[in-house]
Amino acid sequence: MDIETLNIRPATFDDSEFVAKSVMAALGQDEVYATPLPKRTKAMIKRITSICQREDVLYSWKNTLIAEIEGKPVASLTAYNGTNYKEMRERTFALFDGPLDFDIDLMQDETHEGEYYLDSATVLPEYRNQGIGRKLLLAGIETGKKLSIPHVTLLVSPNNHKAKKLYRSLGFREAGEIYAFGENYQRMKLDTADPMRIDILTVLPEMLEGFLNCSILARAQKKGLVEIHVHNLRDWTLDKHKRVDDYPYGGCAGMVMQCEPIDRCIESLQREREYDEVIFTTPDGEKFDQPMANMFSMKKNIIILCGHFKGVDYRIREHLITKEVSIGDYVLTGGELAAAVMTDAIVRIIPGVIGDEQSALSDSFQDNLLAPPVYTRPADYKGWKVPDVLLSGHEKNIRNWELEQAIERTKRLRPDLLSD
Ligand code: SAH
Repeated sequence: MDIETLNIRPATFDDSEFVAKSVMAALGQDEVYATPLPKRTKAMIKRITSICQREDVLYSWKNTLIAEIEGKPVASLTAYNGTNYKEMRERTFALFDGPLDFDIDLMQDETHEGEYYLDSATVLPEYRNQGIGRKLLLAGIETGKKLSIPHVTLLVSPNNHKAKKLYRSLGFREAGEIYAFGENYQRMKLDTADPMRIDILTVLPEMLEGFLNCSILARAQKKGLVEIHVHNLRDWTLDKHKRVDDYPYGGCAGMVMQCEPIDRCIESLQREREYDEVIFTTPDGEKFDQPMANMFSMKKNIIILCGHFKGVDYRIREHLITKEVSIGDYVLTGGELAAAVMTDAIVRIIPGVIGDEQSALSDSFQDNLLAPPVYTRPADYKGWKVPDVLLSGHEKNIRNWELEQAIERTKRLRPDLLSD
């Protein structure tokens, strides 16, 4: 099977039986894929198929995306706008003639207006664990975005940690619990609004490009969790030699970046959208740290201006810059490394960027503590041993040990963090 050939398309009327089985499987009835089919299951599939064939019900083929490999459906996602949920649910369940195995009057609303609700996603048993569900979910999120619905939501069993991890890695976050189908479910929610946007202004775009197109930063952009745009200030000068700098007034040594290209570039960006901050990287700015990274990562749009030479004409700082930031008490040749450092620290804490969000929260500085030591296999390398407690499997002792280590290391290495 070649997952490369996976194709995702809207379902058609003829997919109704596949949709019916998928919905049933999503509700825990994996026997729909058994051969031979139990007679009761067969009858049930037939009945549910007749519901899925309608256009005015929750589980309609019309609300469904199909993933197929070489023309064979292997997975489906049924999802819909929550606006008419109540009315649709009533109609849908009224069609389930025969008793439901849960009390519908006790059931809370799975969704409501303002949500694109991913009702059920099912992959055929033999195609599971190959990333097909993930692709289908991404297509579902895309649909929600295209419909300009502010949130995409779904339900997951509280103990289904594997599924939760998948949803988190797609950017979903826990958003309360509800009681439905006779069980408690965790609700998870994702915002479809435009991602954070970072515009970096520089005379050396090539210095940033490699960096921004690697690893986690590249993936974050690809996933649509952040947009990063690099602007070459030389494109904004009116000078025919594309000069962006000139000699300083007063006759001291070095060159100074001129107002015009910077002003024109910032002005054109601000005409397109509102920016929360226009940041200048400079050694005499406020020192960059984790709280500042956290604060920036909650902004919608920011500009980072990289200085070069002796810096920028001071009038830019007086009139256009809202924040001046230094990455440390040393002088670099240009602001590109500072912009890269800031961008990296800001982006890695945007929800969904690091697969396991927990890992970003337990980093050094997030709680004013340095991180505890970490180890991986083998447990004994050349007689260098991993601390016993980590091999004990005793969750509580491990967490205590980590906290003790974090406090001890912070006291020893960075006592200043504890005095704050
Ligand atoms: N003459 C300036 C330094 C210029 S260095 C001064 O003494 O303040 C050239 C550019 O590199 C600066 O404009 C700034 O954008 C960047 N830069 C240098 N060191 C930096 C630091 N520690 N943090 C952030 N940006 C820095």
